[in-house]
Amino acid sequence: MEKKNPTPKIMMDLEKLNMYNAEGCPSCGKKFSLGDMAVLACGFWEGGAKYIHENEAIFDKKTSTYYERRCYNRTKGKGIR
Ligand SMILES: [Zn+2]
Repeated sequence: MEKKNPTPKIMMDLEKLNMYNAEGCPSCGKKFSLGDMAVLACGFWEGGAKYIHENEAIFDKKTSTYYERRCYNRTKGKGIR
């Protein structure tokens, strides 16, 4: 049996802020703050999963993946790749 990776959740430190605040949070468009929890989530943006604020994401247990809230509501029940 294959062991699943732990949930991709990070806390923003200075290094990560420098890395991700060039774009900011793709969900709300705001910058991250020091100490914010961010999760790797799928959404409507291009380029695959990106880090967004944890409270803007919904964890889908079925796929063990975070989805941006709007994306999750829209795709729920339709089956996601
Ligand atoms: Zn956000």
